[in-house]
Amino acid sequence: MTAVRFDDLDVKGKRVLVREDLNVPLEGGRVTDMTRIDAAVPTLRSLSDRGAKVIVMSHLGRPEGKVVENLRLAPVAEALAQALGRPVRMAPDSIGAAVRAAIAQMSDGDVLLLENLRFHPGEEANDPAFAKSLAELGDLYVNDAFGTAHRAHASTVGITRDLPSYAGPLLTSELEILDRVLLHPERPFIAVLGGAKVSDKIGVIDRLLMICDAIVIGGGMANTLLAAQGFDVGKSLRDSDLAPAKTIVHEIEHEAAKVDVHLPSDAVVAKELSPDAETRDADIDQIAPDEMILDIGPGTAMDFRGVILEAKTVLWNGPMGVFEMDAFGAGTEAVGQAIVDSGAVCVVGGGDSAAAAHKFGFADKMTHISTGGGATLEYIEGKELPGVAALRSTAGA
Ligand code: ADP
Ligand code: MG
Repeated sequence: MTAVRFDDLDVKGKRVLVREDLNVPLEGGRVTDMTRIDAAVPTLRSLSDRGAKVIVMSHLGRPEGKVVENLRLAPVAEALAQALGRPVRMAPDSIGAAVRAAIAQMSDGDVLLLENLRFHPGEEANDPAFAKSLAELGDLYVNDAFGTAHRAHASTVGITRDLPSYAGPLLTSELEILDRVLLHPERPFIAVLGGAKVSDKIGVIDRLLMICDAIVIGGGMANTLLAAQGFDVGKSLRDSDLAPAKTIVHEIEHEAAKVDVHLPSDAVVAKELSPDAETRDADIDQIAPDEMILDIGPGTAMDFRGVILEAKTVLWNGPMGVFEMDAFGAGTEAVGQAIVDSGAVCVVGGGDSAAAAHKFGFADKMTHISTGGGATLEYIEGKELPGVAALRSTAGA
């Protein structure tokens, strides 16, 4: 993408501002999921090894432009230091005199983490003045934050106006693997879709209907499509507006010859969403008005497995049920197992899908688990990511 590749950049003695997506889950001041930190480590280690002064930027959560104590990045600095195997100093803020002083003290190879960018309203507003204050801290800019590339913020877009800017290896590799699957899939190319709502993913479904050979759909998304087909799904989670789902159902029926779309024929249902709820397997036309579909049923899991085993390429987004509870996790686990057993090139996108892959022990058996949630979905839809577009049109690119 860039004319000068990251590996060829001369960074020795230079202050390199690196945007990472270290927006990780915290519980009681501890990082509970290292995926995004681990993914950033090779980039940061490479810069440090090459003698850069590595200044890392990230956001955490949604502090909405003010300081929120429990969204400070100190626990992230600690986890990052451990993963890197070298010290990571924490800056007192993301801009200003104290930060410049901390940077002035850095030796070649040192790593400094700036405080949560979103403590300043200028970050999300893509305010040119805030972007300039960030840019002043460095000699060059590397965007490695794939997970934030769909946001036009000061640290992803604005800053590229003020500094020579380059794509980092994590960003590049995320785009390459998605391109490989979306543009040059080995066929059959099968999408496995699920998750909460159709409305979140209409663009994704539309694109996949154009490029896949087959799609299997479970999760809350399937409930909405089944309701749009006229099935009574009882109290199941579903979109209240059925119009988009009806359009998709129409497309599915219309395009039936090209794309083979599989919806659930049975489901695990319960009257309440709780870990010890009484459950039963029900055919999709036998759901009572007070029941909820909380997972695909065993018949559907078998059917989906048969489809998936044919795949040479799989794109998986969205769990098949409420996998967070064991009673409703079997469908997601079965589908994950089928993907592994297929031996296909498989890419997992979506935060909850990644969590499911980890929970059921498939994570290291997948070809790639994307570190982006929204960014991955927008890229699959075919949208240009502002953070990536900005790199194309800058001095460094
Ligand atoms: P991703 O983050 O992978 O894109 P989503 O955010 O779209 O996935 O959806 C994940 C959520 O959908 C999970 O929290 C899961 O519990 C929920 N879910 C899946 N199936 C159902 C269902 N049948 N009823 C209610 N919630 C569901
Ligand atoms: Mg999600």
